[in-house]
Amino acid sequence: MGDSQLISVVCTSCGAEYATDKLLGFCTVCGKVLYCVYDIEQVRASLTPEQVAQRGRGIWRWHELLPVRHAENFVSLGEGSTPLLACARLANQLGGGSIMLKDEGANPTASLRARGLAVAAAIGCEYAVEAISVPSLGDVGDALAAYAARAGLKAYSFVPHDAATTHLAAEVASGAYTYRISRMEMESNQLVRALGQRFGWFDVSSLREPYRIEGEKTLGYELAEEYEYNLPDALIYPLGSVIGLAAIWKGWAELEALGWLGSHRPRIYAIQTDACAPLVEAFKNGAAESKTWDLGVDSRYPPLRLRRQIGDYLALRLVRESGGRIISVSEEDIATAQLELARTEGIYAGPEGAMAVAGLKQLRHERIITAAATVVIINPAAGLKEPQIVSLDDMPPIQAG
Ligand SMILES: [Zn+2]
Repeated sequence: MGDSQLISVVCTSCGAEYATDKLLGFCTVCGKVLYCVYDIEQVRASLTPEQVAQRGRGIWRWHELLPVRHAENFVSLGEGSTPLLACARLANQLGGGSIMLKDEGANPTASLRARGLAVAAAIGCEYAVEAISVPSLGDVGDALAAYAARAGLKAYSFVPHDAATTHLAAEVASGAYTYRISRMEMESNQLVRALGQRFGWFDVSSLREPYRIEGEKTLGYELAEEYEYNLPDALIYPLGSVIGLAAIWKGWAELEALGWLGSHRPRIYAIQTDACAPLVEAFKNGAAESKTWDLGVDSRYPPLRLRRQIGDYLALRLVRESGGRIISVSEEDIATAQLELARTEGIYAGPEGAMAVAGLKQLRHERIITAAATVVIINPAAGLKEPQIVSLDDMPPIQAG
């Protein structure tokens, strides 16, 4: 036995409580997101930050605060403990100050999703499922394929018709059953859900089950640890999926309950592309939830095409609570920021990380974030996964003779 202190699972919206003896999805009462709850008193009595620090690297050193009860089911490819990189040259370009970047592209399968899928695959083993499935706009399908293979489970992923071949290759190589589907099917998600229900797959769609977020919250734990439990002034998070941001926030709340972290939180600045910005609109309008984005334009970056997310209310709530905001940047600014980050710091980020840098540039320009504020940027994934977005038009030609 491991010593997970999971005691129940609770709805983040209506408060309905669920027992932990069976595999759970979203709230069957109201359709919203479920969160795992731990016996914090028990963890506090048996664990200290120093003990966690002495356990080496990776996400499983936080196992008391993860939902997997049996240590033999832990699945790992070395996820977590990613670099926190000082970006002095980028800071100089933006007028000085302290800018750090947490590089989740250094995870196995080159994204933050590795943390979540490690836990989801382990949960699949705990509850003896045969197959796990996910619709994937980008990196989650790659992580699903790798961690399912590692755990001996079948994997089914459904990707957009124009998904980068890098994703397809990674998934097929790991033995996943990967299907390219139309954008309409991708967005409605009905095909994936119907197949999952018919064949009994464990659907690990973002925030439609309460386990993936538990892996991703270790990103929040690590940041707290790396900042010696004294978090910076501002966090820049690209949306993309809200699961990682909700996860960080949940992780910090647990550390505060443990008495390891104070009540200070960074102001959260969440960034979207202006080609698909439902959360920016909801934030501006003071709405508790977003409306499905339907303005007839779309992002050239598949991972940013999220018109509506089940966890939208969690992101809106936490950004407001932090005193931050949700802003949009242009697709051109994202492309420019990707090259600037790679050329000034050697960090080749995916479109989400590039969007975060573009957002920080805008916030600095508008003096919403000044050079006096300490800043951490989250880069969720490496740029290698979406190579089609770098223009090769300005490569110098080599002429023979
Ligand atoms: Zn509910």
